[in-house]
Amino acid sequence: MMGKKRVAILGSTGSIGTQALNIIHEFSDDFELKLISANSSKELLLKQSLFFKPNHVVVNTGDGYNYLKKNLKKNDIKVYCGNDVLCDLIESNDFDIILVAIVGFAALLPTISAIKSGKKIALANKETLVVGGQIISSLLNDYNGEIIPVDSEHSAIFQCLQGEKISTVKNIILTASGGPFRGFSSKELGDVSVEKALKHPNWNMGNKITIDSATLMNKGFELIETKWLFNVPFNKIKVVVHPESIIHSLVEFLDGSVIAQLGQPSMYIPILYALNYPKRVSSSAPKLDLVKIKSLHFEEPNKSVFKHLDFAYEAIRVGGSFGCVLNASNEVAVSAFLNKKIRFIDMVNIIEKSLEKITFVQNPKLEDLLEIDLETRKFAKTII
Ligand code: NDP
Ligand code: MG
Repeated sequence: MMGKKRVAILGSTGSIGTQALNIIHEFSDDFELKLISANSSKELLLKQSLFFKPNHVVVNTGDGYNYLKKNLKKNDIKVYCGNDVLCDLIESNDFDIILVAIVGFAALLPTISAIKSGKKIALANKETLVVGGQIISSLLNDYNGEIIPVDSEHSAIFQCLQGEKISTVKNIILTASGGPFRGFSSKELGDVSVEKALKHPNWNMGNKITIDSATLMNKGFELIETKWLFNVPFNKIKVVVHPESIIHSLVEFLDGSVIAQLGQPSMYIPILYALNYPKRVSSSAPKLDLVKIKSLHFEEPNKSVFKHLDFAYEAIRVGGSFGCVLNASNEVAVSAFLNKKIRFIDMVNIIEKSLEKITFVQNPKLEDLLEIDLETRKFAKTII
């Protein structure tokens, strides 16, 4: 019998991270938690450390480091500070799978470290592929790497494609809930509050992705994510709004057959599936009762109101540094909206102006992306 899978969870204090830890706890015969990390949530990291007793815990702030060091000194748990050290730990330790559940650009370098050191990755973070899809894709080739998607749509597509050839795919159809402002006019979007934007109808997620879902930037990022995960051109990736979020995505094949993956809107299955892949295990997942659900609905996304989707199609079409500028300006815009410095409808302008201003680079290296990210953030902040 194989031993327990040694797991590292990057971003263990977040929405995906905490759900993953529940799964590790539920399936403690199968998994052994070796490393957890977060940005600044020191109390939660301490609680998780005392409960799961991982070998390594990494926090990004000096204050968090001192706090954890002090409170874990009687335990056999090593405490570290900073994302550079996190990258070193990823490279120098044995993990069977690394769940990347950090939000935003900060996941890019740890993901690269994981690929370069031959670790299998369960990828929840989508910004990494938006920013560095080209680089990640060639690294996966060079290092014979493997990414199992965790994002529910991509987990669905990945499951639909099992045993299929990508050359037989006609279209990949991503479903979108439409977010809390589905059906709103541009005028109505003018007045929406942070509190309303944070109330997603179907999903309970971290704040950043919840705002991205309200602008449809999240769906845009998922288009880009689809391109890089499954190597399909932009004209084969479609979006359909499906307010119930029961069908998680679909694949249409050349012969006209369409395969979909269904389930309750919960990240439990995608996380469980990615951690166990290629094995399926019996689980406590919420059951899908189609008779109770009765009907499912579909509509076109309203691109004239939700302009973020077009940024994403453009990013796939032109490639290069476009995705990096798109992501950085969006991170700045979302953070300013969450801090009530700008209105909901101002976010799109910040992205538009950044894309106009920052010089496009066709084949950026990693160093270029790091620089472009910083430059874009600096510029986007001047607009606010
Ligand atoms: P959360 O905001 O809930 O959690 C983010 C995690 O990343 C936290 O552990 C946070 O630590 C850590 N983190 C934040 N900034 C940094 C940094 N600079 N360096 C290191 N760690 C950092 O996000 P979610 O769990 O919602 O999302 C995580 C990723 O998964 C995102 O990319 C999102 O798009 C994707 N995703 C999420 C889904 C969901 O249902 N939530 C669904 C599909 C994809 P701290 O607590 O200290 O801030
Ligand atoms: Mg998703």
